[in-house]
Amino acid sequence: MSKREITKGQVQDKVSMKPFTSWHIGGEADRLYWPLDLQDLQQFLKRLPQTESLTWIGLGSNILVSDSGIEGTTIITQGVLKEMALTSATQIRAEAGLSCAQVARFAAKNNLVGGEFLAGIPGTVGGALLMNAGAFGGETWEKVSQIETIDRTGKITLHSASDFKFAYRQITGLKNDEWFVSAIFDFTPGDGKESLSKIKTLLERRAQTQPTGEPSCGSVFRNPPENYAARLIENAGLKGHTIGAAQVSLKHANFIINTGDATAADTFALVQFVQKTVLEKTGIALHPEFKWVGRP
Ligand SMILES: Cc1cc2nc3c(=O)[nH]c(=O)nc-3n(C[C@H](O)[C@H](O)[C@H](O)COP(=O)(O)OP(=O)(O)OC[C@H]3O[C@@H](n4cnc5c(N)ncnc54)[C@H](O)[C@@H]3O)c2cc1C
Repeated sequence: MSKREITKGQVQDKVSMKPFTSWHIGGEADRLYWPLDLQDLQQFLKRLPQTESLTWIGLGSNILVSDSGIEGTTIITQGVLKEMALTSATQIRAEAGLSCAQVARFAAKNNLVGGEFLAGIPGTVGGALLMNAGAFGGETWEKVSQIETIDRTGKITLHSASDFKFAYRQITGLKNDEWFVSAIFDFTPGDGKESLSKIKTLLERRAQTQPTGEPSCGSVFRNPPENYAARLIENAGLKGHTIGAAQVSLKHANFIINTGDATAADTFALVQFVQKTVLEKTGIALHPEFKWVGRP
């Protein structure tokens, strides 16, 4: 089933997750719900049995979905939690299903600067909040002052960003069974045209160094302190190493590419092989940045 065949606002059974991940890998969600909007999502959660297992997916750009699929209900936010508005002269409220690039461009068009780095993150606002996604020296949570979350009864709560702690590609403070539905971003007044041209330059630079057009999850491993995962993997001679259809990118060693019909098992085996080889050669442990989703 392609994304276009899915009816929003209706539960669909047995939906392949491949079209919902940038790696194009994974089994089926037992049930998938793509809400119409935030109000519809609230109503859906109110009706849902409290025991139902829930998984949230934004743009699927940092997940590896199990070949055995995802149990319970998978909620998709991309393209539907999409309200965005200026809430003051320097603040933007953006819902969780907007892409980070949409926020960066909206800010620039309103002559607000400081959000250019968001254009380099090919995920949603919700995913960027959970991962504390960052690029070109900027990090999501540095720009956030308030957050709205939703719980499994559909209740929305407004939090100050200081209720959460953030570090490199991680946050703490989000409760179990609580998910992000919006963020208030704080930017600085400035020249929007300059901001748009900065975004263009940053994206061009990225396309030169990363295999952005191929199925991947971006950087597979976090950078170890004062080191670069890509350098360690390249120096270990692993560029191009392949298991099944999963391959360490020839362009950027911290990317694993799905060259065709890679399975999650192939990809995970390659992740483990890279970890083992780098550890043996350098004594440095690499930790995955992406999230495993679904059955073990
Ligand atoms: C080519 C490429 C380049 C990339 N470059 C970068 C980069 O420069 N910097 C960087 O940091 N990342 C990068 N990434 C990784 C990825 O884009 C980010 O981690 C992004 O923030 C993930 O957002 P998403 O919407 O795709 O999240 P998903 O992959 O859908 O989900 C990631 C995690 O967030 C959870 N989640 C999703 N939405 C919500 C929500 N609303 N509430 C609570 N939890 C939620 C999911 O359950 C999952 O655990 C790159 C990926 C690709 C494919």
